[in-house]
Amino acid sequence: MVRVDNTHAGEKNKSHARSLCFKSTEDYYPRAPVGLGECFFFETKSQSKFATQPLKPAASGVFLFLQSAKIMQERSILIYDTTLRDGTQGEGVSLSLQDKLNIAQRLAELGVDMIEGGYPLSNEKDAMFFQKARQLKLGSSLLAAFGMTRRRGMKSADDPGLAALIAAQTPVITIVGKSWDFHATEVLGVSLQENLDMIGETVEYLSRYAQIVYDAEHYFDGYRANPQYALSAVETAARAGAKWIVFCDTNGGSLPEQVSQVVKDSKIRLDPLGPRLGIHCHNDGDLATANSLSAIDAGCDQIQGTFNGIGERCGNADLVCVISNLQFKKQGYRMLRDGSLQHLTELSRYIYETANLVPRNSQPFVGRSAFAHKGGMHVHAVNKFAHTYEHMNPEHVGNERRILVSELSGRSNIAALTQKHGSDPDRLLLDRILESVVKKENQGYQYEAAEASFDLLVKQCSGTYRPHFETIKYQILAGDLDTSRNQQYAEAILKLKVGQSVCVEAAEGHGPVNAMDAALRKSLIRFFPSIESMQLVDYKVRVVNGEAGTAARIRVNIESADENHSWHTIGVSENIIEASWAALVDAVEYKLHRDNQRTEG
Ligand SMILES: [Zn+2]
Repeated sequence: MVRVDNTHAGEKNKSHARSLCFKSTEDYYPRAPVGLGECFFFETKSQSKFATQPLKPAASGVFLFLQSAKIMQERSILIYDTTLRDGTQGEGVSLSLQDKLNIAQRLAELGVDMIEGGYPLSNEKDAMFFQKARQLKLGSSLLAAFGMTRRRGMKSADDPGLAALIAAQTPVITIVGKSWDFHATEVLGVSLQENLDMIGETVEYLSRYAQIVYDAEHYFDGYRANPQYALSAVETAARAGAKWIVFCDTNGGSLPEQVSQVVKDSKIRLDPLGPRLGIHCHNDGDLATANSLSAIDAGCDQIQGTFNGIGERCGNADLVCVISNLQFKKQGYRMLRDGSLQHLTELSRYIYETANLVPRNSQPFVGRSAFAHKGGMHVHAVNKFAHTYEHMNPEHVGNERRILVSELSGRSNIAALTQKHGSDPDRLLLDRILESVVKKENQGYQYEAAEASFDLLVKQCSGTYRPHFETIKYQILAGDLDTSRNQQYAEAILKLKVGQSVCVEAAEGHGPVNAMDAALRKSLIRFFPSIESMQLVDYKVRVVNGEAGTAARIRVNIESADENHSWHTIGVSENIIEASWAALVDAVEYKLHRDNQRTEG
């Protein structure tokens, strides 16, 4: 794959890409809309030797032409995912059997080479997983079952753990064994020789059933303590038939230069025996990505890790970051299926969602904030030349640039956002919007996660806001019906004006917000039948200025959805009911305004 990046190409590419003719960036994007990247990556099939075709015009009248670009020799890196096994060791991570099957399917769709499904001896769910997984359509992805070397003093054929691995019927079996002398004698309680025998016999026995990946546990710590013993452990596995020897930084405390040196030294000893090499890093020093990349440089061809880096303690190497760095930064590596990197963000979020974890906004490459811009100067520059504050085009990993509204931001932010919302306001209007945003932010509003309320604010400032209804009065009753049985009730009474009609409705709900929502729908549905399809998806409450005690302001964020979209609104008040009401009213108004636009447009 050849990438020619007209703005921040790697040195290698620059030397190959001659005659890149273009005018100034201004010429491509006279008024660069938000969301369009500044950098043009052109991809050709990896099989072809030269990229000779004229490339796509970046914008009308401008052509980039690449005369001859040599394809860099690409190395294939095998991606081994252990989200379903090592990932589930993470605190708060719990996946049902169906979750695991769904994730395996999604990983296969991305082209992950090996998918470790679990440890069949450890629990019933993992054993069931391998049975059910036979129905999945995994394409060229191989399932791996994980287990340990045989127990001490037992023949491989009698070991229930190894029997469970064979019963899993996977094309790959991954065996973990000890490489650190101290662990063998003090944790396992076996002699150094018996540990080697356990490794050799297990690998040899299981090689009859599957391709063996041998995970050398604590390899780097073991190597530092006793390099000869660590080496003899992996040599034993290689001689016994392991196809892959994977060096594990189990405690996650190694540095990139240490990883590099140990891999290079070990490779010299292992190469004559024929296995390929892999790396499995944990992130205790926040270096799992760096360590994995070092190991690849030093000669490893397989990376083990988890999506989003979930895993025990500080987690495993995050495959999202490792893959993105190899592909977009280091270059010269081939991984996954062609075109699948644009799905990284989607898959990352899918896995957070399935594992019921809160996504990490600051996660590199795929996080919501990874390409979010807040400071006014930044936004101004980023709108004009995206690469000034972005290290790459977010679209390459399926992410998007976000412009955040903030009092810090100035006019450029507001301009960018309103453009995104489809209007091109004049300077006076921009000033009006900015003034309102600053005022609202001082009250505790934040529009970053409330794009629908922002949209309504823009309409208000530009005089195009036409409210569909008016609130005359609302009243909420909530409390305990029977304190001894802790039975709660909530009821809302609403008086609204719609056009010339005044209507009064009451509704009950599980709580005050639910009751208000029910009464609002009941009142409006005969005027606006489309709100039938709308529902409240999420409701979040936060105290804005905690230091004020009970007089603190409450910020309510509501997520609503209909059959096509979801949108976020906000309300702020010292009164939680009032804040909720404001967010609810915005949610309904936004939906009705959008429905109108659709029918008009
Ligand atoms: Zn691990």
